[in-house]
Amino acid sequence: MPDLWLPGAERHPLGDTAPTDAQYAPRVIWHITWDKNGTAAKPANLVPFDQLVRYFTGGGRGAAPHLLWDPFTGRTAQFYPANSRSKSVVDTAGGTRTNRTGRVCLQVETLFFPYCQVNGKSYATVRDTPAKGLAKILAWARSWGVPDAWPMGAPTWSPNRSEHAWETAGGHYGHGQVPENQHTDPGPMPKWPTTGPAPKPGPPPFPGCSAFGPGKSNASILLLGQQLVRRGFGEHYRVGPSRDWGEADRQNVADFQRAQGWSGSDADGYPGPETWRRLFT
Ligand SMILES: [Zn+2]
Repeated sequence: MPDLWLPGAERHPLGDTAPTDAQYAPRVIWHITWDKNGTAAKPANLVPFDQLVRYFTGGGRGAAPHLLWDPFTGRTAQFYPANSRSKSVVDTAGGTRTNRTGRVCLQVETLFFPYCQVNGKSYATVRDTPAKGLAKILAWARSWGVPDAWPMGAPTWSPNRSEHAWETAGGHYGHGQVPENQHTDPGPMPKWPTTGPAPKPGPPPFPGCSAFGPGKSNASILLLGQQLVRRGFGEHYRVGPSRDWGEADRQNVADFQRAQGWSGSDADGYPGPETWRRLFT
């Protein structure tokens, strides 16, 4: 297993760990702490790192990330191990469990606000900072399978959101790109150091037989339907695949299973691990 704790990070475990939804691709969510507001004409001093550590281990623990990162010094503090969810995005009832999406769902709070002042110089975006220590964080994320890509594009101050991209692609997301959330941070981020092409994603992990069947609704059903259509087994859909299980899903899966030369209970229209593997490879 890769490192649960970023090598070199100061550890402040909050306990209160909880698993992530590992059927989704691994990802990182980027934030800025935005604890003050400066302007170009009137920049404000950056907040001390230790003040934020006290916040996330005290009154702000309900919104604690995995990592607090100071892009000016490279200093990092960690509050949750990589395999737990953390708590920095809003998760409304229903829909995606936003703090848990992914084999890992690593959240990084960058110690920053627009026009913060450090050593007499003011900085408009995280992109303008020295981004010290960023390469180490990216390497750690990569060790957990997070590709270097931004599936929804590099963050801007006017982000858009796509629940579909969120549920189907691993990589880096800005807080402003997470469904169910209204924040616009982190704004422009440094360009990732080039590390060659992102690893080609393999077949998605099988979510388990219990993900499918009457009354079930989830992203795996949508993914299944989209892949059936891609493979030419979508003729029973009248509208198209959706998150809600329906008889058309069952009939399309059964067609695919019969095309494998299977019959009887092997072609009942409910996907098992072997159906899933063959469908996606
Ligand atoms: Zn945020």
